[in-house]
Amino acid sequence: MTDQRMLTGDRPTGKLHLGHYVGSIANRVKLQHQYETWLILADLHMLTTKNARSDIDEISGNARQMVLDSLAAGIEPERATFYLQSAIPEIGELNTLFQNLITVPRLERIPSLKDMASDASKEEMPYGLLGYPVLQAADILCVKANVVPVGKDNHAHVEVTREIARRFNHLYGETFPVPELVTSEVSTLVGTDGHAKASKSLGNVIYLADSAEEVRTKVAAMYTDPNRVRADVPGTVEGNPVFIYHDAFNDDPAQVADLKERYQAGTVGDVEVKDKLAAAINRFLDPIRERRAAFEAQPGLVDQIIVEGTERTRREVQQVVFEVRKAMGLAGA
Ligand code: ATP
Ligand code: MG
Repeated sequence: MTDQRMLTGDRPTGKLHLGHYVGSIANRVKLQHQYETWLILADLHMLTTKNARSDIDEISGNARQMVLDSLAAGIEPERATFYLQSAIPEIGELNTLFQNLITVPRLERIPSLKDMASDASKEEMPYGLLGYPVLQAADILCVKANVVPVGKDNHAHVEVTREIARRFNHLYGETFPVPELVTSEVSTLVGTDGHAKASKSLGNVIYLADSAEEVRTKVAAMYTDPNRVRADVPGTVEGNPVFIYHDAFNDDPAQVADLKERYQAGTVGDVEVKDKLAAAINRFLDPIRERRAAFEAQPGLVDQIIVEGTERTRREVQQVVFEVRKAMGLAGA
């Protein structure tokens, strides 16, 4: 364990799913042993796409679920500090100061901006959505993180953070580490419907909290090779969601190799491929379910983790903001 830090997190828009797991959580669970770990509940980021009063009312319930999901997935409460972004106003202050360290055209070139703005026409894109990566730089640099494990949609954002850190250090003196991006093997998990990305907002996900029955139902309805109308028609394995999930979650590689071979030869039915996938995902989720039940049985634990983590983080961030003001020669330092 070094004194280096890891920071990552999620928007409290719903429960965590298998996409989060492969894109970021698996790395979090691994890296928590090497790095001091900070996990953000990024509710201000949620406001860029969901800001109705009814959405905001869901933040606290979703945040609790996400902490429970993280613990169930293997994050150890004594190793990780969770914090609620909106409860630390100093993050907003850093955001304001960082806004002048990056240009508008640079932000406009970020690919995820186009995806996130796709619902609304560009005319309706909020100012905050353009600034999303700047606020993310504030999240990451407010605790001086050294590593950031995130899925593909966030890779370009971490690059913006690196540029802001370098620019700050150049203008005002060495203050921030330039954080490293940590990528994962499956950087974007496909949706169960075949859509390129499994996403809460698209409803094409298997949640870490799904029951065995829910998993079986979702897997049975999964998108496969559309050209394969019968079991005796040879099928395509590459890019086929069912096999992408087999590769990612089945702990029996010999079984996966056998299914692939028979699928390509047209000697296995979709039902068998899917039944074995549902069983594999359930084997993968079983220990997560057990840990969830154990943490759920401790009343008040999750609230305590959020409250104490946020207080602890706020004290850290206040120190960093003081240092930032001092470096910049602003009043109040
Ligand atoms: P929303 O639809 O509300 O944006 P989301 O499911 O995209 O939700 P986020 O909170 O935006 O989730 O993302 C949290 C983290 O999980 C990020 O690091 C993101 O890159 C990663 N992630 C989300 N979905 C996937 C996916 N399908 N594959 C890999 N990583 C993912
Ligand atoms: Mg997202």
